[in-house]
Amino acid sequence: MSRSIVPVVLVHGGAGDVPEAKRASHAEGCRLAAIAGLARLLEAGSALEAVVRAVEVLEDDPRYNAGTGACLDEHGALALDAAVMEGTELRAGAVCSMPPFRNPIDVARAVLEDGRHVLYAGEGAARFAKDRGFVPADPASMITDAARERLRAVLEGRAHRGWAGGTVGAVACDAEGHVAAATSTGGMVGKRAGRVGDSPILGAGTYADDASGAASATGEGEAILRLALTRHVCELLAGGASPDDAARAAIARLGSKLGATGGLIVVDATGRVGHARNTQTMSWGLARVGEAASCGH
Ligand code: ASP
Repeated sequence: MSRSIVPVVLVHGGAGDVPEAKRASHAEGCRLAAIAGLARLLEAGSALEAVVRAVEVLEDDPRYNAGTGACLDEHGALALDAAVMEGTELRAGAVCSMPPFRNPIDVARAVLEDGRHVLYAGEGAARFAKDRGFVPADPASMITDAARERLRAVLEGRAHRGWAGGTVGAVACDAEGHVAAATSTGGMVGKRAGRVGDSPILGAGTYADDASGAASATGEGEAILRLALTRHVCELLAGGASPDDAARAAIARLGSKLGATGGLIVVDATGRVGHARNTQTMSWGLARVGEAASCGH
């Protein structure tokens, strides 16, 4: 079976409503991230390395709500959430409400490698990161004018106090049928201090299991948490659904059960991919060995 699996990386740049004029470039950023992830997969040979690399690229891109350019909480601070999980031994690492570090997904990866705990919060996450040699970022180097303006608009009542859009995520499957998923976000614009969304919570925003597949979610975090959405997707895959059907069914449930909106990217352990959204847009990028990389929104 493993001989027929073609390595693949699928990336999202967040469910939401990217203005028409910016959609193509938002999607192109995802395509480039997927290409970078696939290149890493082929060098390092692992789906885990691939999803971390793809997410790093998007965290460094200020257009997305993760790493540099992430949205701000009600006090104007960055409080970052990220998780990564691999599907072979179900190893995982995550951080939440973490003060600024340039690439939160790398800290999550270090949590996975360390192996003692799975999820670190706030100052504890920062302490763990510093102990592992990560250097705290100057907030000014990661907070963009656009993020400040979005917060102002929310606090002044000119914009809806909802989830921000622009969360990033990646799923991958290697030639052996090993899968992985990663997600990174600033969460919601103007969120209360201490609020944690779905992205760093296994089974909600991020999940991977070689027995079924891997998924990364984006959208209304509170609803995604309540539905354990990525775990639900993996159960649908295990029941025989294709990745596209599983993604569509899970997003339909998000809408019908909780009246919420969001999107999903999914890969199964044979390398088939799927995605779905019930928002206006969800930028995505796809890179697969032997094919031209593609993207859309
Ligand atoms: N799901 C993220 C959160 O609620 C937001 C997003 O996907 O844009 O933190």
